[in-house]
Amino acid sequence: MRFFSSSCRTLIPTYKVAVVGSGPSAFYTAYHVLSKKPETFNVTVDFFEKLPTPFGLSRYGVAPDHPEVKNCEDYLRTMMKDSPVRFFGNVTVGKDITLGELEQSYHSICLAYGVDNDNSLDIPGSDSPQVIPARQFVNWYNGYPTDFKPPNLEGIEDVTIIGNGNVALDVARVLLAPIDHWKPTDISEDALEVLRGSTVKNVNIVARRGLLESAFTTKEIRELLDLSKKGIKFIPIEESLWEDFVPSINKLDRPNKRKFTTIQKHLNQQIEHPQKTWSLQYMKSPKEFVTENGKLAKTIFTKNELVEGKVVAQDEQIEVKNELVILSIGYRGSSIAGMERYFLDRESRLQNKGGRVKPGYYTSGWIKNGPKGIIASTMMDSFDTGFNMLEDLNNGEYLQGEKADITEKLPNAVTWDQWLKLDDFELKQGEAKGKSRDKVNNIEKMLEIVNS
Ligand code: FAD
Ligand code: NAP
Repeated sequence: MRFFSSSCRTLIPTYKVAVVGSGPSAFYTAYHVLSKKPETFNVTVDFFEKLPTPFGLSRYGVAPDHPEVKNCEDYLRTMMKDSPVRFFGNVTVGKDITLGELEQSYHSICLAYGVDNDNSLDIPGSDSPQVIPARQFVNWYNGYPTDFKPPNLEGIEDVTIIGNGNVALDVARVLLAPIDHWKPTDISEDALEVLRGSTVKNVNIVARRGLLESAFTTKEIRELLDLSKKGIKFIPIEESLWEDFVPSINKLDRPNKRKFTTIQKHLNQQIEHPQKTWSLQYMKSPKEFVTENGKLAKTIFTKNELVEGKVVAQDEQIEVKNELVILSIGYRGSSIAGMERYFLDRESRLQNKGGRVKPGYYTSGWIKNGPKGIIASTMMDSFDTGFNMLEDLNNGEYLQGEKADITEKLPNAVTWDQWLKLDDFELKQGEAKGKSRDKVNNIEKMLEIVNS
């Protein structure tokens, strides 16, 4: 059954859309649906977000020294002012409300709930408390409401980061850049305190494959290389690997050529007494994390060769001294209650075609594509999902039936106005401390503020 409104002279139907999540994919999908809908029907959108706060990884993933990236959040802020949109924070879909219940209130449901776990390594020593997933470390420095406490960085000199994607580079920058770099940002107070006491001297970023397969991008590696201006030295890439690679640089595609000429320019950084050092290492897979006297002491790596693009372990092993290991080997998605049969475990995403999962159900973002992609690519792809949602609404393909308002089922939901209270609190607290924002990193405290 359609809901009719009389916004124009003739009656036109209003379709109700639920979006699960409020990260970039959620708000870009909603933006497309609201701004590109035909004149023949109206659309309202309700966002359901498990945290009391909006913005997903824009708030809790993007590094504190990348504030310009967070400008994407303005899409949601503007929509909340100008469009028929509501925010239900502090509501975990699948727990506080089921998908079945959402069906009773919405014509279309878009699952944009991102990913909430990390890949793990099943090797000896990986259960050591000094071997931690990058996701937890990132959550912690970004003030995500979690109980995770990273190891004190006092007494730690050498850190190994496994994996060389952009998350690995963010983590390395947090460990390497001087404290003054972080002070004015919205980095968590906890992290600032630990970084102040940090004795980290050297960070090795280790990849299992070769230079050409490096997962980081140019802007992000340049940021690390530019730390030389602050006395942070890049240790040149292993000579035998680099020398073999150099002749091919000019033949690479443009992004790769830019990436490696950027590195090439920094191979001979002249810093007499570096504050800290870092390196990019290649063709090594961790085999064991070794603990001595109850503390992580080193990682044993197997040297690899690439045979037809596949990693093949060689007999040679090398040992790298480290007191902390951060695993930056990718995030992992999971199903939501009711969607199990559509969840592709290996690909860490929901099965879909152009964002269509099953009639009335759609998906956007990392849970649609797997945990990869920057905000710009997430935006373009979310517009595709939005396009298909509109096409189906236009063709009468949606969840049929009377649609009751959902509000009374969610007495503990945080509204947008309540979030604005918390937003204001964080900004003011930040200003007092000379920071762009001071995030509240505890759900109870958040709820206390929004309900005050
Ligand atoms: P998310 O942003 O994760 O949003 C998902 C939302 O759903 C979250 O708010 C979550 O709380 C909510 N949710 C989860 N489960 C439920 C549930 N059951 N019910 C209700 N809500 C739920 N890209 C850039 O362009 N530049 C960068 O500098 C950059 N830095 C990054 C740094 C890190 C550490 C990471 C991991 C990624 C970074 N990215 C960056 C990539 C960017 O963050 C992603 O492309 C983008 O956030 C994906 O959006 P999403 O909406 O799919 O997921
Ligand atoms: P990623 O780019 O996919 O990198 C994952 C890294 O982990 C790769 O080096 C990968 O190596 C390695 N890896 C995976 N499994 C491994 C294993 N079993 N053993 C050893 N190494 C393993 O993922 P990410 O760094 O988590 O980033 C996710 C997405 O967010 C990316 O699209 C990224 O660009 C984006 N992001 C962007 C920014 C930014 O724009 N500033 C910042 C952060 C994140 P192989 O290549 O060999 O598999």
